[in-house]
Amino acid sequence: SSAMAKSKFEYVRSFETDDTCLRNCYIVVRLDGRNFHKFAEQHQFAKPNDDRALGLMSRSARSVIEELEDITIAYGQSDEFSFVFKRTTTWFKRRASKLMTHVASQFSSSYVFYWKEFFGEQPLLYPPGFDGRVVLYPTNHNLRDYLSWRQADCHINNLYNTVFWTLIQKGGLTTTQAEDRLKGTLASDKNEILFSEFDTNYNNESAVHRKGTTLIWEKRNETVSKRIKRPNEEEQQVPVTRSRRKVEAYYCDIIGDQFWEEHPDVLED
Ligand code: ATP
Ligand code: ATP
Ligand code: MG
Ligand code: MG
Ligand code: MG
Ligand code: MG
Repeated sequence: SSAMAKSKFEYVRSFETDDTCLRNCYIVVRLDGRNFHKFAEQHQFAKPNDDRALGLMSRSARSVIEELEDITIAYGQSDEFSFVFKRTTTWFKRRASKLMTHVASQFSSSYVFYWKEFFGEQPLLYPPGFDGRVVLYPTNHNLRDYLSWRQADCHINNLYNTVFWTLIQKGGLTTTQAEDRLKGTLASDKNEILFSEFDTNYNNESAVHRKGTTLIWEKRNETVSKRIKRPNEEEQQVPVTRSRRKVEAYYCDIIGDQFWEEHPDVLED
């Protein structure tokens, strides 16, 4: 306030630069684990997919969505998670650094906080970190292409990793032999190796590994029975229905139209 004396040091605040995100754009914050190749090795993650680690990533993402404002959808795979703030958010005056650092720190502290729920007595050996970046998308089309890009990345990596580790774990190849075997192969070749040599249909592999994890808010009506006592009446049990918001996880295709048609509230006009 003007009544409060300003120190002679106050001018340094003017060195802060403006990082307000352009209005009307979706604000996407993507986090990625720092050096998780090593983190996965040191914590003996199962190859190619450790479900404890994926569960912990999702749990941490859920904490971000529940604790912070205005996130409408999040998508994660491997050691990364993307969070989408609604177009109209005014949270922290849309300041990129505030939004990004709140997402990154809430996620990181949750990753440590919930570690035990997923890894039990296996100790966390050192404090993990996550980098963050902010990207703005002006149209629904751009935003859907962004999420499609991440899911396509998940698919490409998971198909490769699935064949790679199958060749090693079931085919007895060394890592170098498996690498050589896969050099220059197309997706169809990889599917064929799994099918003809290992009797495995890639499409029957776990959906969370193939598609990644999509988190959205869902409204559902919850009916609870409440005791009500009105003056001069007997106490009664009355059903009370209220609409509650809950974060729901999907492990499905988000590239095609179906998911978006089934959840029309996620995107705005
Ligand atoms: P950077 O710091 O540049 O991100 P990085 O080592 O984290 O380096 P990424 O490209 O992000 O490199 O790859 C993440 C790596 O973490 C994967 O290649 C994989 O080895 C490991 N990883 C992450 N999640 C899992 C999981 N659920 N199961 C098994 N391995 C995982
Ligand atoms: P915001 O999210 O906007 O930062 P805030 O509640 O964190 O809100 P700050 O201006 O950052 O507001 O003030 C931090 C407050 O945290 C202090 O006013 C004080 O109440 C409390 N606090 C922080 N550190 C200590 C400490 N070591 N001992 C006692 N209180 C503390
Ligand atoms: Mg990377
Ligand atoms: Mg990483
Ligand atoms: Mg990564
Ligand atoms: Mg504070």
